[in-house]
Amino acid sequence: MHLLDRIEKHGRTSPDRLAHVSGERRMTYGELLAKSSALAAWLDSQLGDKRTPIAIHGHKEPEMLVTFLAAVRSGRPYVPIDYTTPEARMHRVVEIAGAEVVLNPVKVAEIVAAAGAVDYQRKPPKASDPFYILFTSGSTGEPKGVVITHANLEHFVSWMLAEQHFLTGQETFLNQAPFSFDLSVMDLYSSLATGGTLFSITKDHVTNLKSLYEAFRISGLTTWVSTPSFAQMCMIERSFTGTMLPTVRRFLFCGETLAPETASQLLERFPQAKVWNTYGPTEATVATTSIRITREVIAKWNPLPIGYVMPGTRVIIRGEDGNAVPPGERGEIVIAGPNVSPGYLKRDDLTAKAFYQIGDTRAYRTGDWGRNRDGVLFCEGRMDSQIKLHGYRIELGDLEANLRALPEIADAVVLPVKKGDIIDSLAGFVVLSGAKQGTDFEQSAKLKTHLGERLPAYMVPRKFHFLDSFPMNNNGKADRRKLAEML
Ligand code: AMP
Repeated sequence: MHLLDRIEKHGRTSPDRLAHVSGERRMTYGELLAKSSALAAWLDSQLGDKRTPIAIHGHKEPEMLVTFLAAVRSGRPYVPIDYTTPEARMHRVVEIAGAEVVLNPVKVAEIVAAAGAVDYQRKPPKASDPFYILFTSGSTGEPKGVVITHANLEHFVSWMLAEQHFLTGQETFLNQAPFSFDLSVMDLYSSLATGGTLFSITKDHVTNLKSLYEAFRISGLTTWVSTPSFAQMCMIERSFTGTMLPTVRRFLFCGETLAPETASQLLERFPQAKVWNTYGPTEATVATTSIRITREVIAKWNPLPIGYVMPGTRVIIRGEDGNAVPPGERGEIVIAGPNVSPGYLKRDDLTAKAFYQIGDTRAYRTGDWGRNRDGVLFCEGRMDSQIKLHGYRIELGDLEANLRALPEIADAVVLPVKKGDIIDSLAGFVVLSGAKQGTDFEQSAKLKTHLGERLPAYMVPRKFHFLDSFPMNNNGKADRRKLAEML
């Protein structure tokens, strides 16, 4: 059964079942269906036959789910924009997406309240229609929109359901990632497809960790979905154990390297739960490979593998000549299958660089180094300057371009600062176009404010270093290695 049919069915047959919990707010499947019908009808009244994307600027409110569903039921993709996105970047996203309707939770609630009960017949989608568009950091300073189709998402969700055997109507899923990051798709649609409850943690929880643990205690979580960074943060609290979350049965991780220490600590603290490592980029719909991390797996491999490919999809380890390398050798991870996106919205240039056809199959060059060893896949880091900071995907080039766009900056280089193997923060090296204003601290504060008007807070470097000029390498470019030595 198709994903939207499943969700609508839960709304009709189990209307009182809880679909979403977010802070104090609760929404049932009946409400989700009714409200999305009202909003879908309103979208039709505003846009007629136009299938332009619907942008929604918000956080973890139930109206986010209402909007997602209303958009796709009315035959339009949605673009989630987290409320931490600065206005300038949000406008750019809306512009690139060509969204004529930009909603927020308050507006959605008003439209739905004014509409009353509406009987809405969903528009049957084509498999190639876009379902959602997620914007990620682009290396030139422009966000790029990854288009995910109905077929892409169906392929991913069917795999999740087949592999994880979620119990219909009995699961509660942790929603940690903002909806603008594709990790959230794993919990959101696994939950909605199986009539589960999505348990969102909000910014308030994360700024007040005591409230987060209190929320966990009464959450009834059965399926944990987060970045490894988030689980590591939770483990600082000693009482974060199977006693706090007695019903949790599985931890699903994606988005960044899962350290063996994290996995073994979790197995110790939650003896009743299974731990899974999954891997994949937004461009191939959330995750493409997976492996259950047992004590045996931890004893056998360090670093941990990313596992085995989902059925119906292939992973090729591509050598420099474009051909697959023999098992055991390193190359670029290429994903080919029905989960691979058609490309970046209105960016044929970027699409042509990263996507190609293998016969009828869409393939994506991930830019990740990988290896097939002992019959399992390993991800061995990036080939470019894309990084993950606390689970967030950032192109250093995006940051540098946005820094250079500030009038007070002549040139900029941004480097990751590591603690052990893990990136802990970012350092910006800048050459100012005029005299420094005040002390280093004062000038840094100004830069952070100005950059924060262009980029989300998680992208702003923690520390700035002011130089008269950059050391140069033989190619006449800023010598990043020498700069790194200064850290
Ligand atoms: P995103 O599009 O935000 O999901 O980021 C995708 C990138 O995150 C991948 O191309 C990898 O570089 C990295 N990544 C995702 N999952 C894993 C994993 N399980 N282990 C290591 N790196 C990962």
